[in-house]
Amino acid sequence: MPIDPAPPSPRRRWPWVLALAAAAVGTLLGLRAAGLLVLPPRHDPFAPLDVAEAPNWLTPLKLRRTRDDPAACLSALEGAGLRFEPVPDRPLQRGCGLDNAVRLRAGREVALGTPTLLSCRAALSFAMWERHELQPLARQHFGRPAVSVQHLGSYACRDINSGDGRATGRRSRHATADALDVAGVTLEGGRTLVVRRDAARPWSDGRGAADPAQAFLFDLQAGACRSFDGVLGPGYNAVHADHFHLEVGGWPVCR
Ligand SMILES: [Zn+2]
Repeated sequence: MPIDPAPPSPRRRWPWVLALAAAAVGTLLGLRAAGLLVLPPRHDPFAPLDVAEAPNWLTPLKLRRTRDDPAACLSALEGAGLRFEPVPDRPLQRGCGLDNAVRLRAGREVALGTPTLLSCRAALSFAMWERHELQPLARQHFGRPAVSVQHLGSYACRDINSGDGRATGRRSRHATADALDVAGVTLEGGRTLVVRRDAARPWSDGRGAADPAQAFLFDLQAGACRSFDGVLGPGYNAVHADHFHLEVGGWPVCR
């Protein structure tokens, strides 16, 4: 009696599917690189980052590439409608310095409590955070936009603060203006959400908490992890009880 060959198991088909998908993506990228294929900017991995565009799976790649290119970074900031002035470079000395930094006066819709010195890299992440996290969350939780962000500073030539007085011997991202400490947000109408006050209860209870202020701040911190590489807040340690530390360029961390 003839025996039908067993159909290939789904597991055996996977390498073929992956190889075909990789070949298709490789062909598309090759055609795009040769100028033979025009993709819409939103789906073109080589197109510069447009802060106004709704984020998709290419956004982290574009954000990283634009941050690493000084001219593209400044041009993306301008396109995003931020108010800033470029600041002359200060060569690194003992781990502190400025490279393609700006004095940021305001985001697109929010004023900054005081103008702040930020690397273009960090300012671009701020622009993404403001547009795609801060404003949508303010409208979602309170039905109104945010009008200002209070911060505790950005550039500071110092080491990482261990919180218990021990020397860490490692420069903070603040030493290269790659970090911003956000202390609060003011909404249209005047209400201010303050990290120290409104996040005073155990931070891990934030999701689903009855208090809209805490829920908003919890979502705001979680959302920052999509635009910044490192985010530390009240749940991390006592040093961060009164602010969100938002940084670019370090190890990925979101706590
Ligand atoms: Zn900080």
